[in-house]
Amino acid sequence: MTVLITGASRGIGAATAKVFAEQGFAVAVNFKNNEEAAASVVDEIIKKGGVAKSYRADVADPAQVAEMVRSAEADLGPIDVLVNNAGVCVSGLLQDMTDADYDFLMDTNVRGAFNTCRAVLPSMISRKGGAIVNVSSMWGETGASCEVLYSMTKSALAGLTKALAKEVGPSGIRVNCVAPGVIDTDMNSGYSEETMNELKEETPLSAIGSPDDVAKSIYFLCNECSGFVTGQVLGVNGGLVI
Ligand code: NAD
Repeated sequence: MTVLITGASRGIGAATAKVFAEQGFAVAVNFKNNEEAAASVVDEIIKKGGVAKSYRADVADPAQVAEMVRSAEADLGPIDVLVNNAGVCVSGLLQDMTDADYDFLMDTNVRGAFNTCRAVLPSMISRKGGAIVNVSSMWGETGASCEVLYSMTKSALAGLTKALAKEVGPSGIRVNCVAPGVIDTDMNSGYSEETMNELKEETPLSAIGSPDDVAKSIYFLCNECSGFVTGQVLGVNGGLVI
């Protein structure tokens, strides 16, 4: 079995790569810029006896995505599972957001998932099976002040998940979404320690989530334990949003 994980050189993507490798998947580790970090994820998997290879592609670019999928399928076999994890965030008041900010967020977070789904589906459909997980956010459900564009892109991923689940369900392909809460990764490095402590206190499980918490939920949505689950958005947030 082969999984392609976008933005897998660090954070939630890297943790997901390791979880799938431990479960016997061959892992295509996508990265945009940080070749060294992607190589270290691959090395760690190979050292533990797993199979992995890294692929450079900007998910916003359809030609790069098509070439990545072609190479990964040639190297590792047909893609059984796609995890759309690559994502970016820009914070600030809506009126201060530029057209470039809009394009950056939409192209990476939404067009990126569109590009990858479109590239992997023909093979999944012809094999009548597969699973796709999109990484949204709790802000896509509740909306976040000063992260309006980010929230909008993450809501779009929930919409993509539901519609595509209906479209490809008859082909035996499941499409689901995780909506993480506050997870300890570089994406939250801008938050002060005080803010992180406040968020922790507001969380019923009294913790900040780890990349591994999200990775295991993604894996759950891709194996037989969730075989009758599709079109769903699974909150992975310690109860912060209920
Ligand atoms: P992160 O910034 O460490 O990881 C994001 C990854 O996406 C990086 O490896 C980055 O290089 C990659 N990426 C960005 N643009 C790309 C592109 N155009 N092509 C390919 N790769 C690209 O942060 P993370 O927290 O691990 O984020 C992973 C996902 O989880 C994101 O979609 C993010 O929106 C989502 N998320 C994170 C949190 C959180 O609290 N950390 C909460 C909810 C959702």
